[in-house]
Amino acid sequence: MTLVTRQLKKAARVILIGAPGVGKGTQTERLLTRFPELASISSGDLLRENVRRKTSLGLKAETAMQAGNLVPDSLILDLISSEFKSKGWLAKSPGASISPTASFILDGFPRTSVQASSLDTLVPINFVVHLVTPPSIILSRIASRWVHEPSGRVYNTDFNAPKVPGKDDITGEPLTQREDDSLETWTQRLHKFEETSRALLEHYDRKGCLWRAEGNTSDEISPKLFAEIENRFC
Ligand code: AMP
Repeated sequence: MTLVTRQLKKAARVILIGAPGVGKGTQTERLLTRFPELASISSGDLLRENVRRKTSLGLKAETAMQAGNLVPDSLILDLISSEFKSKGWLAKSPGASISPTASFILDGFPRTSVQASSLDTLVPINFVVHLVTPPSIILSRIASRWVHEPSGRVYNTDFNAPKVPGKDDITGEPLTQREDDSLETWTQRLHKFEETSRALLEHYDRKGCLWRAEGNTSDEISPKLFAEIENRFC
């Protein structure tokens, strides 16, 4: 397959919002390949790095993260603005504005409309993508997922089936389904996303930068997303 890349003519400051299982990670990877000027900034990765290095921010965030709670907004804001500064995109002086060439995808941030409002004062986001796959499709994809626990190899009986049903291709050992892949857990996760994302989507809809990309698979969504970014930024 030939690798097609595109150059951005205008800075793209992008956020992807989508339910768990919708393929945000896949779309992010594909966007980074297609548009090499984009960088991805993940709040979860930055936090884990701070925890690992035992920075004062990491120590403050660790308890909330371990309990599965969101860390306080002020910490996240500090984290993101220092990342922008370390990339040379934001001058150190207070109130400085973002470099006009900085192009990035934010991953995991903002999570709430409060965070989105704070981000507006720091860096104006200019493209917010709502990735949509019907929940019934996400659930059936999860239900078809089987893993070989010892190696972590993942199969999907719909599009990446093992050669012998129920057996790992390499070792022939039995495949299992993850406990946290149960239908009940996933239904809850999807409901929670619906609830928490509503205010965030409304926030960006009011700003006029929200765009919806719908599809049953990542392969269906990617071409639409590429075309829209090319239209807006290339
Ligand atoms: P993630 O890798 O995005 O799932 O993030 C891992 C953990 O980091 C989350 O469970 C939260 O505790 C914390 N975290 C990441 N991003 C945020 C955010 N935007 N606001 C608050 N907490 C966050």
